[in-house]
Amino acid sequence: MLHRLTVSELARRIHRGEVSSREATQACLDQIARVDGQVRAYLSHDPADALAQADAADRLRASGQADPAAHPLLGVPVSLKDVIAHRGQPLGCASRILGNFVSPYDATVVHRLKAAGAVVFGRLNMDEFAMGSSTENSAFFTTLNPWDTTRIPGGSSGGCAASVAAHECFASVGSDTGGSIRQPAALCGVVGVKPTYGRVPRYGLTAFASSLDQIGPFTKDIADAALMTRVLSGHDPMDSTSMPEPVPDYLAALSGSLRGLRIGLPKEYLIGGMHPEVDASVRAAVRQLESLGAEIVEVSLPHTEYAAATYYIIAPAEASANLARFDGIRYGARVDGATPMELNSRTRGRGFGPEVKRRIMLGTYVLSSGYYDAYYLRAQKVRTLIRNDFLEAFKTVDALVTPTTPAPAFKVGEKSDDPLQMYLCDVFTISCNLAGICGLSLPCGFTSDPRLPIGLQLLGKPFGESTLFRIAHAYEQSTPWHRALAPLA
Ligand code: GLN
Repeated sequence: MLHRLTVSELARRIHRGEVSSREATQACLDQIARVDGQVRAYLSHDPADALAQADAADRLRASGQADPAAHPLLGVPVSLKDVIAHRGQPLGCASRILGNFVSPYDATVVHRLKAAGAVVFGRLNMDEFAMGSSTENSAFFTTLNPWDTTRIPGGSSGGCAASVAAHECFASVGSDTGGSIRQPAALCGVVGVKPTYGRVPRYGLTAFASSLDQIGPFTKDIADAALMTRVLSGHDPMDSTSMPEPVPDYLAALSGSLRGLRIGLPKEYLIGGMHPEVDASVRAAVRQLESLGAEIVEVSLPHTEYAAATYYIIAPAEASANLARFDGIRYGARVDGATPMELNSRTRGRGFGPEVKRRIMLGTYVLSSGYYDAYYLRAQKVRTLIRNDFLEAFKTVDALVTPTTPAPAFKVGEKSDDPLQMYLCDVFTISCNLAGICGLSLPCGFTSDPRLPIGLQLLGKPFGESTLFRIAHAYEQSTPWHRALAPLA
């Protein structure tokens, strides 16, 4: 049952010499061999490379040079969304357009994971270029939810969430532009963190919408989330948007009592049309936070209703510019043509899937002269109003509590023909990215029939991750949800 340990517990045992990294890595690979035929979280993984890293971790320990403070992830297998560069491994963004592209360098986060001692391995499935909420937009196959394999795991980082829920890795690293970490974490019953914009460097992350993208971890519990976020965070000269703010010891923030904390309940987030059991679980969680000592206050974020529309202008606009680099000349696949223009349009026509094309068209439309003022510029102004709503609320509260999603995991195929329904999966998660604040999702219950996980979202001030971890930890430790095992675990 080695594969079911948390990151913290496994690292502790490896440091003590009770288990080797090779054994832990092999346990992970065995679990992949056992269940990934059903979950389909991994696009690829390289067992030989993972075991070689494990042996290096075991040698480091044997040499007496391993230090729990410097190597908090010693020997722990951690997997990656297929959008983060890992030297010598495929980097495909779950798209055909990258062909057999192999990354020539490590993303800063990969560098940091390795420096902390982790065994970094595996390429996890996702919606193509992180555009989607179900992994159904992957160019290759759909990942399935380990709680019910007729359902989607959420997206776009569905492979990350599913691999942690199925205990096919100890933790995973993904990206969140409008909810792509928190939404799949909620639907798979694991913890997912979207750090503050600028907290985690994005050097080596394939850009989707650069003013919104942020890298963050998926874990089995909050202590692991705090640990992983600390490892990933901090300024990087290779990313000019990464901030110099010192990285606190997030684990030290996990104190227990919530006395003295004020938590806001935004009235716009408990709306009609929610799944009744999601609504009930979130309300029960709010009462639990109160019983742990927090003061709950109703707050208003009046521009919430414009968030989805704003996001679906700004994100495609940025994507249309970012994806221009996939031209058939510099990277990946190429479909030849008689002229450079023909080569470019054939390559992009065959290489990109329908959702990516839809976003590029939406994005170029809202940026085109004549429409720029009406759409893009106006969306930027509304974005400021949305950010101001949060900054106003944070004058009176330390954090906010909301549902992560309006409903639990849906069936494969249920929304794939209706982009608008798919976009509405993100109503509760996108404001956080538009405002640049931090957020996380943690398990807060289950629906009854079928039994599917429900997520609770906590939103915090810019660089207020410590407070979120403190609240989430107190809640988690007083409830049984994080200990529940998916049928495929
Ligand atoms: N589901 C949202 C979208 O399709 C968010 C994706 C993300 O956060 N990468 O854009």
